Amino acid sequence: MDKVIIGIDLGGTNLRIGGVTSENKMLAPSVISSALIAGAEQPVQALCGVIQDYIKANRFPMVEAVSIGVPSSVARDKETVICTTNIRDRQGRPVFDHANIAADLRGRLGVPVFVNNDVNNILLYDVAANRLEGQQMVVGIYIGTGVGASVLTGGRLLEGKDGAELDLGHVPFFRGEALCSCGKKGCCECYASGWRLQEIRRTCYPDTEIQDLFTRHGGEAPLRQFVEDCAYIYAIMATIFNPDSLIAGGGVMEMKDFPRPDFERLVNEKTGTDVMSYGFQYVYSEPYVGKGVIGAAIFARRRMAELARTA
Ligand SMILES: [Zn+2]
Repeated sequence: MDKVIIGIDLGGTNLRIGGVTSENKMLAPSVISSALIAGAEQPVQALCGVIQDYIKANRFPMVEAVSIGVPSSVARDKETVICTTNIRDRQGRPVFDHANIAADLRGRLGVPVFVNNDVNNILLYDVAANRLEGQQMVVGIYIGTGVGASVLTGGRLLEGKDGAELDLGHVPFFRGEALCSCGKKGCCECYASGWRLQEIRRTCYPDTEIQDLFTRHGGEAPLRQFVEDCAYIYAIMATIFNPDSLIAGGGVMEMKDFPRPDFERLVNEKTGTDVMSYGFQYVYSEPYVGKGVIGAAIFARRRMAELARTA
């Protein structure tokens, strides 16, 4: 068997883990409840135990690195988790808050350990799956429960001063008054998110299952408005970045019968005319549970190459 990178996608509900080969094949995928980490006295130690047990159980002959995607911004060291607002311990505190989890894990596991924002990892997966590596500008916007984004420019992931860039869910929508969970008013997530879609279901379509909303009611005003609200954030990003490809993904965008032609028409209408004079390609992220695990491994491979170059 080939050497593998252990890829991990630590979500709010589930932790997915797999051994990823150099051809980006995921071996022995496994899933456990994130509560096993969040509820532990020592979360990093618990995570380490999960990884060690997994490696032992699957008898991987050589582990090159461990790479973890987290639903949080990650500092520029690619080791420190800024704050897991969606993963909390029994006292309700974020499990990792400005915590360098890689240093601790590396000490215990004896292999390189990398940490990255989960949306960045998913973008890297989508870029590889759709062969977009050669493009100058790729913008991915993922609308799930919340909203995440990632930008690959000249082959590099866009990074801000501290690693807290692209928090699109909390971009204010013009004169929006809805109260957001972050404490601000009128954030994108109040209008274009899975959370908002649940609200629409509760108030307008209580007898329809969430997954059937677009199939049964896609042509009606509340959902048409919702699709338009989603289109704003894509149009803003397309106008800023002039992308080769605009990747649309996340649980909402990947729903059955999400009206892609209407969505694309609305984005095109709202995007700046200079950008639209050149246009861009729409790419839809496919629903696949291994994206975060494989993306984490791709990130580790990139990071190791970068470190080797600068060494
Ligand atoms: Zn907000």
